[in-house]
Amino acid sequence: MLRRSFILKINLIIILVLTMQTTAWSQTAEFDIPELMGKAELELYGEGINLRKEAHDAFVEMKKAAYQDGISIEIVSSYRSFDRQLAIFERKYLQYTEDDGMEPLQAIDKIIEYSTIPGTSRHHWGTDIDIIDSSKKTEGDVLVPSKFEEGGPYADLKAWMDEHAREYGFYLVYTNEPKRRGFKYEPWHYSYAPLSVPMLEIFRKKNILQLLVEEDFIGSEFLTTGFIKTYIRDNILDINRVLL
Ligand SMILES: [Zn+2]
Repeated sequence: MLRRSFILKINLIIILVLTMQTTAWSQTAEFDIPELMGKAELELYGEGINLRKEAHDAFVEMKKAAYQDGISIEIVSSYRSFDRQLAIFERKYLQYTEDDGMEPLQAIDKIIEYSTIPGTSRHHWGTDIDIIDSSKKTEGDVLVPSKFEEGGPYADLKAWMDEHAREYGFYLVYTNEPKRRGFKYEPWHYSYAPLSVPMLEIFRKKNILQLLVEEDFIGSEFLTTGFIKTYIRDNILDINRVLL
């Protein structure tokens, strides 16, 4: 009798845990279009961190562990709103077309080597970060691939992240796989997968093409249907496969 009631109890606990997991999943899986496009007021956590709660907590744990190993992870960029991304896009567009004399599409191609079309940045989600090692002094721009390679100031950070980031749910998005298209290799950009995977899943079910066609900003008239389709395939979806 005792054994039977024990088994019954265990079964009940298992059912309870499974139910709780389903609830947690469905809660995180509710993201609407304004949230996914950087147009919603998000609750962000941590001074100089600015991430969603769950991503923030995981980041703090990762930062502590890295610090024990002599690496000072510092966030250069995390959450970015639609308007902020819009300002970046328009500034670059005007610089390339007016100062450098590029054709509109040529300028947009140049912009999307590293920057996104407003509304499509993973930085809108409060799950993605660009990081450096603040204990290393260096001159000029910090987000330069060579600085993360052997001999560069952030080589130790990169090696540590290669080994440990996944333990905290963080993964490199724009890898250096030779056949990957879209954004160039960004050894500094990590994503908190437990949130960003369901977010991307929801985003890609929306009509991204239609959402982008409806936007109106400097240069947006050159974003043709064909261009946007390629952009979605290469820049939004050709990323580290773990994040799909
Ligand atoms: Zn980034």
